[in-house]
Amino acid sequence: AAQEGFDAEEIAGALDEAGHGPLPRLAVVGRPNVGKSTLVNRIIGRREAVVQDKPGVTRDRVTYEAEWAGRRFKVVDTGGWEQDVLGLDASVAAQAEYAIEASDAVVFVVDATVGATDTDEAVVKLLRRSGKPVVLCANKVDGQSGEADAAALWSLGLGEPHPISALHGRGTGDMLDAVLEALPDAPAQTFGAAGAGGPRRIALIGRPNVGKSSLLNKVANEERVVVNELAGTTRDPVDELIELGGVTWKFIDTAGIRRRVHLQEGADYYASLRTAAAVEKAEVAVILIDSSESISVQDQRIITMAVDAGRAIVLAMNKWDTLDEERRYYLEREIETELGQIAWAPRVNVSARTGRHMEKLVPAIETALAGWETRVPTGRLNAFLGEIVASHPHPIRGGKQPRILFGTQAGTKPPRFVLFASGFLEAGYRRFVERRLREEFGFEGTPIHISVRVRE
Ligand code: GDP
Ligand code: GDP
Repeated sequence: AAQEGFDAEEIAGALDEAGHGPLPRLAVVGRPNVGKSTLVNRIIGRREAVVQDKPGVTRDRVTYEAEWAGRRFKVVDTGGWEQDVLGLDASVAAQAEYAIEASDAVVFVVDATVGATDTDEAVVKLLRRSGKPVVLCANKVDGQSGEADAAALWSLGLGEPHPISALHGRGTGDMLDAVLEALPDAPAQTFGAAGAGGPRRIALIGRPNVGKSSLLNKVANEERVVVNELAGTTRDPVDELIELGGVTWKFIDTAGIRRRVHLQEGADYYASLRTAAAVEKAEVAVILIDSSESISVQDQRIITMAVDAGRAIVLAMNKWDTLDEERRYYLEREIETELGQIAWAPRVNVSARTGRHMEKLVPAIETALAGWETRVPTGRLNAFLGEIVASHPHPIRGGKQPRILFGTQAGTKPPRFVLFASGFLEAGYRRFVERRLREEFGFEGTPIHISVRVRE
């Protein structure tokens, strides 16, 4: 039935779009300059999305949403990281390794005008060992004459090379059809896919030296019951099952956390790849910050990664034992000004060294997961929206006053809302609505998405 000017189909479509479950993930890998960014832009259909980064600047965004032939998926972006620091082969290998970890299928891009290089061959080995489906793209085939170059790439042993021109779009449609065939319907690490009682997945993330491995050791040593094998769950060797407070949790990528010898060159690059992969696999991210140091741009990037990925978030201020009165005073101010984007995250002030407040970690994680899974019944939501509209109407613009007509929660993990409105809602008003939603319904520890549909 029509609801204040929106027809049923329109409403259903909006809910469908906003409420999707976890999407399968596609990674695009290959050497520098083969055309990965160009291809990613073409797949996601937005020219401006993948910007050319300055060398040495780590990119914040990790995944983008895309759609082809009515199917939605995520594109995991592996380009733009500090390629120069490591040397070509090492950085491309690291990128491929990350892509394999964080995705369900891989597009491997080769420059057909150059042909397969040794670096390409090395990546092929990694890809083949992974068992992930791979779609081989022979890029820069701008015209008929390049087809022969593409055919030469059969030699890589990855099956049929798809001749494409990422730049002009030639062949990309057929290639994307192949991608859809390769992609599963949902990511391998589907939330709750392990069935009822499957362990929740936690990623401990943060800059090098914030104390991730110390924290893991502390929680594991104090309450450790190592669960070796859990019936019915596939176990990734880099993940670890740890029982805390009577509940088994899966800590993601503990191998990476425990690697004590940090590489000198390119350490940030590896750290950033690992963080991105761990975030992709986790449900809740525990973000560690070193309280003894200023909150840095790198801390912010890590936070952005977790927020963008839509994960439940707990903030752990570590090394609390190092604080004196003065530092503590300034730190509180810094947290207020610098960590505003996750002001909603539960915070624990811990020390992995002394064990201070370790017991508060699990309750904080549980709180964040509860917020992440919260569903607001439509009736309650609309009663609340009605109150907002009455008490705080949108400012009048150009003689008109846009109004929220009704809304509904389209999904959880994290909570996603769709608001239907009679006109464009300004950013300030949207923020106000989000703030009030949080005051009313909690959502502690979770990002929330709000999309607005405007009646034409
Ligand atoms: P990346 O380093 O792998 O991300 O590569 P880019 O996407 O930045 O592309 C490297 C260069 O190759 C740029 O100058 C692109 O314009 C160019 N390029 C990318 N795709 C094509 C293509 O299909 N045909 C041609 N002729 N050039 C391309
Ligand atoms: P990671 O790189 O994030 O895994 O950090 P580590 O766990 O290797 O810790 C880096 C350094 O910080 C080590 O020297 C730890 O002993 C030290 N550290 C970790 N947690 C604490 C803490 O709570 N207090 C203090 N004072 N030092 C800590």
